[in-house]
Amino acid sequence: MINISDYTLNELEQYIESIGEKKFHAKQIFKWIHKIGIESFDEMTDISKSLREKLKEHTYILKLNILECQKSKKDDTIKFLIGLNDDTAIESVFMKYNHGNTICVSTQVGCKMGCKFCASTKAGYERNLTASEIEGQIWAVQKYTGERISNVVYMGIGEPLDNYDNVIKSIRNINSPEGLNIGARHISVSTCGIVPNIYKLADENIQATLSISLHATDDKTRKEIMPVANRYSIKELLEACKYYISKTGRRISFEYALIAGVNDNRETAMNLAKLLRGMIAHINLIPVNEIKNGSYKKSNESNIENFMNTLNSCGIVTTVRRELGSDIDAACGQLRQKYLNKDTIKQ
Ligand code: SAH
Repeated sequence: MINISDYTLNELEQYIESIGEKKFHAKQIFKWIHKIGIESFDEMTDISKSLREKLKEHTYILKLNILECQKSKKDDTIKFLIGLNDDTAIESVFMKYNHGNTICVSTQVGCKMGCKFCASTKAGYERNLTASEIEGQIWAVQKYTGERISNVVYMGIGEPLDNYDNVIKSIRNINSPEGLNIGARHISVSTCGIVPNIYKLADENIQATLSISLHATDDKTRKEIMPVANRYSIKELLEACKYYISKTGRRISFEYALIAGVNDNRETAMNLAKLLRGMIAHINLIPVNEIKNGSYKKSNESNIENFMNTLNSCGIVTTVRRELGSDIDAACGQLRQKYLNKDTIKQ
């Protein structure tokens, strides 16, 4: 069976023609799936019964099931554990901001990147998500909450640039005027820094925001906490960022997890300012979320404050991201990890 939700409009046109039908039906079908979010072919009221039957015979519309959700008592954040058809599970987070409802989507089942502070990578890597499994998280959450999502951040489980083709396809589908029509400027892709794919993304002509998980200002420290730093130096990473800015004109957002005694002193803040000087950048400081069996501790309040003030006084726009949903395991991979420990889902 073909997962029809996975096609781009172009691919769907080719498929529809290949089964001897008129090309224009592809746009109708695409809209039913990607704009209206229907779950069965019988809801496609402008498609003939015979074509619907043909589609049913050879294809299916992807639907993801919510296995569990946790609502924050402190804010409107909801964390979802979402089941996939092969009995694996991923996480998505719904957040309410002034600028609109935001979803944080996963891109892989597990992660291979091995960042030391991150819960998503602890149980290893299982597989990439397909484009429709990425988009399907938006549909599942919109249906559950009854609210329209206007912003998508690719910051859930997995490394988006390690699942490049499916991530790009999902961005194009959710950005499509025949689909959810979410503007590229309302889409952020976060990466630990897979340098060649940052260049590729820059050349895609998509106006998405790029977030870089930097977390250190020297290669030695970065290698200790992020194995990807063994493949690409900070210098190479920042060159790729400059290329991204020059191609897209978009500001880059740097994520920096503050870990007590590792990367949070004043000298490091000065180094960070020096590294990013002259770039159109924004820094998001995230007091590291302490994970189960993790050895890293959050920086204390005065170090967080000082780190932010140092950067701001150097003219680099810096904010501290206070964890939404801190009472509900909302940090990457924590809910899924809890489930893995209970052995209720396949890894
Ligand atoms: N793989 C991508 C996207 C997923 S992680 C990336 O690395 O960017 C989303 C962000 O959360 C990244 O900046 C990641 O480094 C950060 N993160 C993961 N675990 C964290 C934790 N325990 N505390 C603070 N930030 C964390």
